Amino acid sequence: MNDSMRRAAAIVLVILGGAGLWWAGSGAPASASANDAMVATMAAARERAAANDARLKGASRFEEGGWIYVHLEGDPGAMGYQHGYLLAPEIEDGFAAVSAGMMHATERDWEFFRKAAHEMLWPKIDAEYQQELQGIVEGLRARTGSKLDVDDLVAFNAFEELPDYYVPWLNKRQKAANAPNLKSPGNCSAFVATGSWTKDGQIVMAHNNWTNYRNGERWRIVFDIAPKNGYRMLMDGFPGVIASDDDFGINSDGLMVTETTITQFEGWDPNGKAEFVRARKALQYAGSIDEYTKIMLDGNNGGYANDWLLGDRKSGEIGQLELGLKAYKLWKTKDGVLAGSNWARDPKVLKVDAPEFDPSNKESSPNARRARWDELLKENKGKIDVALAEKMLGDHADSAEKKEDANERTLCGHVDGSSRGVKEWEWQPYYPGGAVQGKATDSTMTKEMRIMARMGHPCGGDFLAKPFLAAHPEYAWQEPYLRDMKAGPWTEFRSGQTPKE
Ligand SMILES: [Zn+2]
Repeated sequence: MNDSMRRAAAIVLVILGGAGLWWAGSGAPASASANDAMVATMAAARERAAANDARLKGASRFEEGGWIYVHLEGDPGAMGYQHGYLLAPEIEDGFAAVSAGMMHATERDWEFFRKAAHEMLWPKIDAEYQQELQGIVEGLRARTGSKLDVDDLVAFNAFEELPDYYVPWLNKRQKAANAPNLKSPGNCSAFVATGSWTKDGQIVMAHNNWTNYRNGERWRIVFDIAPKNGYRMLMDGFPGVIASDDDFGINSDGLMVTETTITQFEGWDPNGKAEFVRARKALQYAGSIDEYTKIMLDGNNGGYANDWLLGDRKSGEIGQLELGLKAYKLWKTKDGVLAGSNWARDPKVLKVDAPEFDPSNKESSPNARRARWDELLKENKGKIDVALAEKMLGDHADSAEKKEDANERTLCGHVDGSSRGVKEWEWQPYYPGGAVQGKATDSTMTKEMRIMARMGHPCGGDFLAKPFLAAHPEYAWQEPYLRDMKAGPWTEFRSGQTPKE
């Protein structure tokens, strides 16, 4: 018997002993407080054992500016364990909110998503990410005694692709009667600029994450990941998910990555590899725009189809990978700016992968923001730096109405303030969604593995759940999960950071 087995055996004895006492005491109301005490003792014993696990060596967590920073390092299983352990309460909470949304939107039960994860996604996940996901489950269970298993975790990791890409594809194939009208999401406003466009001629990259406030308020993790294999990564992310998923990250070989989602995208390949796996793998292993493209194309399943905005600080080159399923296009330049706000532009991608999208409707959210990016970036050509990028992410100019009015058409989105909603994404009037946080970096910062990040609306505005729900009872189903989303300050994070004293 080695040390860890002996420790595990000891824990089992403690738990069995505790369960026996609890069982002996159950049914006797007078000893309810004794039962509570026993449950607490068992939980404390479990937590102590988990905290002493050798896999936690080198991992850490602290909170700053409304963000939770976690440092993960080592082999895939250990990194997963650290992730599950350090973020256990946030993973339980995030899973509850996300899974409720997936079931509500699709009218499918959770077993449906577990099955899709187990049968369709799991077999094609690279071994190292299978180990990491398994590790998350182990860390989570060790910390909280969670009931979640690896099928739950895989379905949860695929929360951007299963409900909005796989289910619509499946409904169409099954000719499902009365199927809900599901639309692929439109997430984010972003740009990457280089050469004569930026203040110092180097790359500047910025992104704000658009999603519903229910999930968005929980999108507050900064992951500093030092894997055994591949490059070191610094990215924002969601608790329990192994990819950034709103996608803003940099790696130690100088790759800079962000994206915005393609509106009205249609298509899914059940034989492909999950997008969250490809996106994580590409940030971990790509050192150039071409390598990034190659990894994203390998096993492309069409899930969470994005316009990837990329930068390589080593060469100063930027790129845009418009990744459809049937078609894709890559643009690259060393002197230019590439912006995104949820529209595809390659004629072939538009025709075969987003046939319903209307690029000429100036009043739609994607096109109005596209016009605003054009205007704002041109006005500031040669002056763009990280400080200016932060301001741009909080911009409230509505290019369709030609006035300041925070709504669904502004770079900093506030759809809860719009009577129009966003019909292209099936976001109804006053939908509680929009820009939920922002990030920015440049070549110099990337070399030093630093990013700026602001939690909440990048303009600094607050969303308050209670008055919103009182005014909009049609969103009452979200009440258990919808919380205030208060803006924090722009905060710098770097790899290897430790909490301030
Ligand atoms: Zn705003």
